[in-house]
Amino acid sequence: MNDREAVKVLIVNDDGQYLTGTAFEWEFTDERGKARVFDYQADRVGELIDLVRKTQGRVWIAVKLDPREVFEFCDRCGCRMWAFKTYFDGRQFLCRNCREVESGAKPGLPPRGASGEVP
Ligand SMILES: [Zn+2]
Repeated sequence: MNDREAVKVLIVNDDGQYLTGTAFEWEFTDERGKARVFDYQADRVGELIDLVRKTQGRVWIAVKLDPREVFEFCDRCGCRMWAFKTYFDGRQFLCRNCREVESGAKPGLPPRGASGEVP
């Protein structure tokens, strides 16, 4: 562990909804599973929250994710999955489907839908 360890957060607005979408098109959702996961440092969450408060008068809160809840993204198919379900092969993070394809267990089997790994 070091001081550069990423802190993963969700952003919650004053209605208790979770921020999702992109920097160009923010949306809020009631579903925690659809919330976008931010890296507190890399995504400058503190600055974003400050900016929104100053420009829009809205109060957003960064909520730290439970470590068991942190998502990773499959480097191969891009699907989001729980971090503890990812496989790191030394080069890339893979979801279960892609790992099976890569390892040759089920050659040619395409990965399932993008949301398949999130309960
Ligand atoms: Zn995948």
